[in-house]
Amino acid sequence: MKAHEYQARQLMQAVGIPVPASEVISKPDEAKAAFEKLNASKAVVKAQVHAGGRGKAGYVKLIDTADEAAEHAARMFGDPMVSKQTGPQGVRVRKILLANAVDIEKEYYLGIVVDRAKRCPVMMASAEGGVEIEEVARRNPDAIKKAWFHPHLGLQRFQALALAEMIGLVGEQAKAAVGIMLKLARLFIDKDCSLAEINPLVRTPEGQILAIDAKFNFDDNALFRHDDIAALFDAAEENPAELKAKEYDLSYIALDGNIGCLVNGAGLAMSTMDIIKLHGGEPANFLDVGGSVSTEGAVEAFRIILSDEKVKAVLVNIFGGIARCDVIAEALIAAAKEVGFHVPVVVRLEGTNVEIAREMLEKANIDQLHTATDLTDAAKQVCACV
Ligand code: ADP
Ligand code: MG
Repeated sequence: MKAHEYQARQLMQAVGIPVPASEVISKPDEAKAAFEKLNASKAVVKAQVHAGGRGKAGYVKLIDTADEAAEHAARMFGDPMVSKQTGPQGVRVRKILLANAVDIEKEYYLGIVVDRAKRCPVMMASAEGGVEIEEVARRNPDAIKKAWFHPHLGLQRFQALALAEMIGLVGEQAKAAVGIMLKLARLFIDKDCSLAEINPLVRTPEGQILAIDAKFNFDDNALFRHDDIAALFDAAEENPAELKAKEYDLSYIALDGNIGCLVNGAGLAMSTMDIIKLHGGEPANFLDVGGSVSTEGAVEAFRIILSDEKVKAVLVNIFGGIARCDVIAEALIAAAKEVGFHVPVVVRLEGTNVEIAREMLEKANIDQLHTATDLTDAAKQVCACV
């Protein structure tokens, strides 16, 4: 689960990580009052969306009058933000943060993720923070310093000190950075984060160290023990079809092509997409019905896939193990009745109860339904339909 910057700020503030004062608004006409409330000579207007790259997209703007605050707020609320991370259609802005602007002498990067290979969290720090950090990671990975820490012991002070030194901080500033690193590491563990990132962490000309922007993601599987974090969930930022799928314990991922994919198992989803691409097609999505799917869940799966206007054909690829082919066949028949197939649906079934399933489908004689002999045949058929 992702959190907004303003929510991440609240979490940081609660543990004593210094952040500039800020106000959150949800309508353009609140911008002036928010700026006046900040009582600062200058501020930044920042779109609150789950996508990054806001600065480069023009959705982080420095202003010094209430009128400018209102002007940028109106623009950001009005036009979807298109950045490297959003796709061409962009994302709608529903909340805006106004924060005190600070003079920045230098921008640093600080982040924690789980290192899967080493099976523990890793803190990363760099003296080259700011909007180009992805570029730094690609071009000059050595500029990103790392410290791995045990989740039960936490990041140790000596590790934080070493990191601070490696990114060139000394004296009082190193001390301040160490405090922030230890607090961020604690927060990461305590709240079951999968990502906790401050970018940039800045040094002001007066030598203050402040968190200017933050991005926190949380482990969905741990949300049950964090009501406070679960409450930060913002459904408006989610793809509606993905939300609907979650309700039925299905995992749905929207993509850019025009072939809908209904599969069981993440591995099969990957190979299904590969084989579609191999035969010249582009997947519009994939919907993984998982192992223990019910007819009801599978019908919902069809409803979700077919409601996507981009979908011009559907490939159903089921390898029946725990999921039974006859359940899928039953769902196909029910979906044809309840939802109706307005595009071709190519079906490849294999595994448990496949014979029964094939018989059921044959008997049902569904319009637009094509059965395939194997996966290659299925991929060829579906690609020929679009
Ligand atoms: P994003 O990472 O989405 O582009 P940031 O909040 O990191 O958004 O803002 C981008 C850049 O804007 C920062 O690297 C910083 O240079 C500047 N900036 C953001 N907030 C402030 C602020 N409160 N005061 C001064 N500069 C800021
Ligand atoms: Mg940033």
